[in-house]
Amino acid sequence: MEISIRNLNKAFGDRQVLANVDLDIRGGEFISIIGPSGVGKTTLLNIIAGIADADGGSIGLKPDPASWEPIIMVFQDFLLFPHLNVRRNIAYGLQNRVNFRRAFTIPDEQDLPARKERQGMIFRRSEEYAAHFDIGDLLHKYPAQLSAGQKQRVALARAMVLNPALLLLDEPFANLDPSLKMETARFIRRIQGEYGVTTMAVTHDLPEAFAMSDRIGVMLDGSIRQLDDVERIYRFPADEQVGAFLGPVNLLPAASWNRCRFSGEPPAPPPDESAADGHSILVRAESIGLEADPRGPASVLRRRFRGTLVEFDVELDGAEYTVFRLDSDLDPGARVGIRIKDYVYLHKENS
Ligand code: ADP
Ligand code: MG
Repeated sequence: MEISIRNLNKAFGDRQVLANVDLDIRGGEFISIIGPSGVGKTTLLNIIAGIADADGGSIGLKPDPASWEPIIMVFQDFLLFPHLNVRRNIAYGLQNRVNFRRAFTIPDEQDLPARKERQGMIFRRSEEYAAHFDIGDLLHKYPAQLSAGQKQRVALARAMVLNPALLLLDEPFANLDPSLKMETARFIRRIQGEYGVTTMAVTHDLPEAFAMSDRIGVMLDGSIRQLDDVERIYRFPADEQVGAFLGPVNLLPAASWNRCRFSGEPPAPPPDESAADGHSILVRAESIGLEADPRGPASVLRRRFRGTLVEFDVELDGAEYTVFRLDSDLDPGARVGIRIKDYVYLHKENS
C-alpha cells in the first residue's frame, strides 16, 4: 500500500501538534519516524490508523480502501488480551468474518465453511504464524507468563496473521531490554521483508531505526523536516537540528574550517568576510581526524573512554567540538591538527 499525506494539521487546544505534515510512503517500504518525545509521532500514527481525526489535510491510500479494504494495526505496549492464551491472542482477529474471508481469500459470493471447520482453519493458521515468529512452544501460555520480547512477537504475529496492507508500529522497542532491541529490530525487518507489508514505525531508538528502515523521517516542530534514505539522512542532514538529532554534529564557521585539512575536496571559500558566517560546515564527530602537531590550530581539552570509541572535546578558535576516535593516544593539553573527512556545507546567502 502506498500512502500520500498532504498538509495534515492537528491541534490540541491552542497547541498545534501537527503543522502541515507531508509524507509519502512507497508500497512495501519500511519507514521510521523519529523525533523528540511529545512532538506528535503517536498523534500522526493515530490519524493514519483512523483512531483520531485530523483538523485538516488529506491521507491518500493506494489501492483505494473502498475497493480493497486495508487492515491497519497499531500496537503500543503490545496490548495483548490478558485472559486469552497465545494461540487465542493470535487467532483473535480471524474470528471476524470479514477478516477471515480476506485472510483465506474467500470471495464475498462464496459461503463460509461451517463454524467448526472455520475454527480449525483459524487455529492452524495461528499455529503456522506462531511457529514462524518463534513462539510455537508458547501457544498455551498467557501474556502474564511471557517475557517482553515474547509478548512483542505475539503482538506482531497477531497483526501479521491478518495480512495487513499497512503495519503501524508505535515505539516497538519501548518495553524491551537494551540487549533485545537490536535483535528485535532485525527480526521485524526480516518479517516485514518476507511479507512485503508497508510499515511505518515511530521510535526514538536510533540504532534500531537505522537497522530496520529503508528511510527515516525526522519530525521536529510539528512537521517532517527531512525524509531520506538511512545513510543519506545521517551523512547529509538538511540542517543542524536534523543532524544533531541523529548523533553529535559540529558546526564549524568558515574562519575555523579554513584552518583544517580536508581528506577530499574542501568547501568553496566564502566570497568575502561578510559572507563567511553563512558558510559553515556540519561535521559528524567521527568525521573529524586529530593529528598530533605541536603547531596545530586546535588542542585537546578532555577525553572520555566510552567502550567502542573514545570521545574527545577539542578546542579550536575558542569553540568546543566533539570528536570520536578509536584510539585514546592523545592526552588533554596536546596540540593537534584537524582533518575533516566528510561534511555538509551549509551555504546560506543571507545569514
Ligand atoms: P509523541 O508520540 O511524539 O511523544 P504525542 O503525539 O503523543 O507525541 O503527543 C503530542 C502532543 O500532543 C503532546 O504535547 C501531548 O501532550 C499532546 N496530546 C496528545 N494527545 C492528546 C489528547 N488526546 N488531548 C490533548 N493533548 C494531547
Ligand atoms: Mg508516542
